[in-house]
Amino acid sequence: MSAPTIAGSSCAGRVIALLSAWPGVRTAPADCGVGVGVGTLTGQILHFHDEAYADLRLTRPVIDRMREALAHSRRIFMVPGDDWIGIRLETPSDVALLVTLVSVAIKASLGLPSPVAAAAGPSCGAARPRVGAPG
Ligand SMILES: [Zn+2]
Repeated sequence: MSAPTIAGSSCAGRVIALLSAWPGVRTAPADCGVGVGVGTLTGQILHFHDEAYADLRLTRPVIDRMREALAHSRRIFMVPGDDWIGIRLETPSDVALLVTLVSVAIKASLGLPSPVAAAAGPSCGAARPRVGAPG
């Protein structure tokens, strides 16, 4: 149980500061045990595992709907069949993209019946090897 070490000046820190101002959004240690989690009443939808990488529970129906647009971004990593996507945060436009996607994810999570949300569990990217990281 390490304490979150996300600096406020980092990309992740900026997103956390922005989202903290949204009604109903709360931050806490990520429920996977790595980094910082951001969630709503229905559970955590966003994990920052370090200052430049986030996993977002965009949910599969939304991912399917947005797949083409998401696939165009070199910052976004998708795993087939997964509710979560990975996002690398390096520039202000990455921050803006993530904030936009979080608002989509919040709407998506509100539409899910809670047993589905609960069954999803901590299946974020912390449990699997990262793909697509530039060398
Ligand atoms: Zn996580």
